Amino acid sequence: MSGLILALDVIDKKRALKIVEETKASLDYVKVGYPLILSTGINIMEKISELMPVIADLKVADIPDINELICRETFRNGAKGIICHGFTGRDSLKACIDVSREFDGDIYVVADMSHPGASAFFPDISVKICDIAMELGAEGIVSPANRPERLRKIKKRIKKLKLLSPGIGVQGGSIRDAIFAGADYLIIGRSIYMDKNPKTAAERIKKAIEEADDEEFPDR
Ligand code: C5P
Repeated sequence: MSGLILALDVIDKKRALKIVEETKASLDYVKVGYPLILSTGINIMEKISELMPVIADLKVADIPDINELICRETFRNGAKGIICHGFTGRDSLKACIDVSREFDGDIYVVADMSHPGASAFFPDISVKICDIAMELGAEGIVSPANRPERLRKIKKRIKKLKLLSPGIGVQGGSIRDAIFAGADYLIIGRSIYMDKNPKTAAERIKKAIEEADDEEFPDR
């Protein structure tokens, strides 16, 4: 069964907590990133983690010693998972994964991105990033759904590693394409939190995920 991760890119604490409260029955994780953490403070992760497990999307991309410090502080402040970059290389990613083991936490590695500019670099290095992530024991890979052909190639490569996929709705990807390409979790933000009723938007999306999961698809 594929899951749903809310990308909570709002900048108001009260609104953020209200949206999580309203939508949590349809969610598996809440992803928080720089917009929410910088505007409300790092404590927001503890607060949200009382309601739902938190994935911190910090796209960590520094030298190993600094990655270690960043990941340790993030886990200490309530994150269950952290999204890190893999283009920085094996040693930098290993530092993140070593820290995750101290906290029984999860590291997800960005192998591709959803914005137009990503095409200049990512497709050429995606497979290499996936291989390093698998070798080091990452929990999963992040790759966008608005390029389903690239997504499919990545899922074939990473096999049992979890595939987390943003880029649905506002960025043009479809739920069905993402699931058929092998996404284990869909990361969706604006289509939920910008809706005038985030609760029913999340329910609608959850239902569409379940329907796509139930469809027969030979290449899955
Ligand atoms: O609002 P929307 O559904 O487009 O949100 C997508 C979320 O996924 C954002 O939080 C964005 O930072 C994130 N993301 C992405 N592409 C990646 C990794 C993360 O769009 N490769």
